[in-house]
Amino acid sequence: MKRLIIATILTMAATTIQAQDFNFDEVTYTPQATTFKLFAPSEARRVQLRLYKDGDSQKAMKTVKLQKTGQDLWTATVKGDLKDRFYTFDMGRGECPGVFAKAVGVNGRKGCILDLKDTDPDGWTEDRRPVTKSPADLVIYEMHHRDFSIARKDAAHPGKFLALTEPWAISHLKELGVNAIHILPSYDYGSVDETRLADNKYNWGYDPVNYNVPEGGYSTDPYQPAVRIREFKQMVKALHDAGIRVILDVVYNHTYDIEHSNFQRTYPDYFYRKTADGQYSNGSGCGNETASDKPMMRQFMLESVKYWINEYHIDGFRFDLMGVHDIETMNEIRKAVDAIDPTIFIYGEGWSAGACAYPLEQLGMKANIYKMPGIAAFSDEIRDALRGPFSDDTVTGWIGGKDEIESIKFGIAGAIAHPQVDMTKVNYSQKPWALEPTQMISYVSCHDDMCLTDRLRASIPGITEEELIRLDLLAQTAVFTSQGVPFMLSGEELLRDKKGVHNSFESPDSINHLDWNNLQRYPQVFQYYKGLIQLRKHHPAFRLGNADLIRKHLEFLPVKRPTARRIDQPEHVMAFRLKNYAGRDDWRDIIVILNASREAQDLAIPKGNYTVVCRDGLIDERGLGTIVGSKLTVSPQSALILHN
Ligand code: CA
Repeated sequence: MKRLIIATILTMAATTIQAQDFNFDEVTYTPQATTFKLFAPSEARRVQLRLYKDGDSQKAMKTVKLQKTGQDLWTATVKGDLKDRFYTFDMGRGECPGVFAKAVGVNGRKGCILDLKDTDPDGWTEDRRPVTKSPADLVIYEMHHRDFSIARKDAAHPGKFLALTEPWAISHLKELGVNAIHILPSYDYGSVDETRLADNKYNWGYDPVNYNVPEGGYSTDPYQPAVRIREFKQMVKALHDAGIRVILDVVYNHTYDIEHSNFQRTYPDYFYRKTADGQYSNGSGCGNETASDKPMMRQFMLESVKYWINEYHIDGFRFDLMGVHDIETMNEIRKAVDAIDPTIFIYGEGWSAGACAYPLEQLGMKANIYKMPGIAAFSDEIRDALRGPFSDDTVTGWIGGKDEIESIKFGIAGAIAHPQVDMTKVNYSQKPWALEPTQMISYVSCHDDMCLTDRLRASIPGITEEELIRLDLLAQTAVFTSQGVPFMLSGEELLRDKKGVHNSFESPDSINHLDWNNLQRYPQVFQYYKGLIQLRKHHPAFRLGNADLIRKHLEFLPVKRPTARRIDQPEHVMAFRLKNYAGRDDWRDIIVILNASREAQDLAIPKGNYTVVCRDGLIDERGLGTIVGSKLTVSPQSALILHN
């Protein structure tokens, strides 16, 4: 074994480096020397670096003092080849791997010095982002690594990043037709002990430890720092090869706690917001909130996003509680990402989980989306209008008989201003909040709260399985024919359930896992989801991607009975038309009728020669029959789609 010769050079910069210029390049490795830098207060009494032989060493092989080389910047250069050695920083608050470790040992306690090029899988330099012209073309599939593969019998790596490289996984996703996978937190988080993976502990992972390293629990060996990095890249590569983009769920808005966080251990109190009376503010609902408005927190987020794009080829970001972040930071991120690739999609939760210590009008809230061009937010309007409010699982929505038509219209139009949407009757918003439809995520369920089947069972007493399936498909028809960007929770295509658990963030696999037997049990459900996705992908009318085009081509039809002399509106039926070759579609006019009532409905539509492509839970673009004239019947609790 080669003996390591370590020497310390005190790197005194000739001029003062402004902290704001610091790009969080905490470790710069060459075979000759490694330079360590840390953003820590100038007033710190002492900042130390400890070097370790391996990840679980208790005793440091070397301790090095960092020197103040600029305002709030501490530096040390250590001579010799430090590859594969581990390190921690210590400024008196406990050892940590800094805030921007790029490789870590087990449980992320120590950083590791790697040559990242060594972690590239075969073909990585040829890896390309799948082409997507507009976010309107995306079909997003939100998944958790364990949910997806843990119960899959033929998975070679159940619950791991590598599961997504396996033929069964890729072929399922391709057949379903989704083209973007949004993976729940996949950076290193704290709630699963990586030294006890055999316990099969489950967590969503909204408790970040190291923001810029993949989670060890999803790798085949959390002790070997290169393994999780390489396997993550293999996953991205396999998905890219299949034409599927990878979107990362990023949780910059809070840390698990303050005391033990890498932020607090390197620069106490800098990264968090406080209230006027000096308490830590809790806009995340998790005990703290970060301060994106402070220059170095903003810089941290910018560098982190760029790093995931450049090093891991990530194609999009979903910002957890985006309403905690300030608008300026989000716009700065959009600008930086545009400089790399403007097709990288950014969206987030346009709300917070508590009051933030920052002016509401300057936060990344849904109501402020119009101030954040190129950034989208989830529409709770269409979600809750369809299935009922977040606050009460037992209350149903439009699919269960509530009058929420106007909110659904708002969602179908993509949250933009549309002359036929009466904003006084929309559930949560007084005015349209999107400038463009690509700023709205259309969905009816996600990992949070109940999945769709559980929600239907909880909110519609005595619902039969047939009725449940009908309403499930009806709800998703609204989602996938919306001009917003469609988004679905993984497993909905298998009629998944979570046994009624509302918040399954740490429920066992038995609650969260997908039951792949459902593919055989409910083949019609999978076929319908697949059909909806294909219909959307084949027909640009459903994804116009532009507010003016929507106002021109999307028309909500007066829903009336064929026998009525004046408009006699049947309850719980809505209809819209995408007219005049919308988006240069092959089909001249497309009519979508959604019937939430338990009765078949006779309706009058504009006179024409129509081909039916969706009826009674079946979708076939080649046609399921024809309708000539202006009278038709829509089956109970189902969608009818036709074109002429
Ligand atoms: Ca971890």
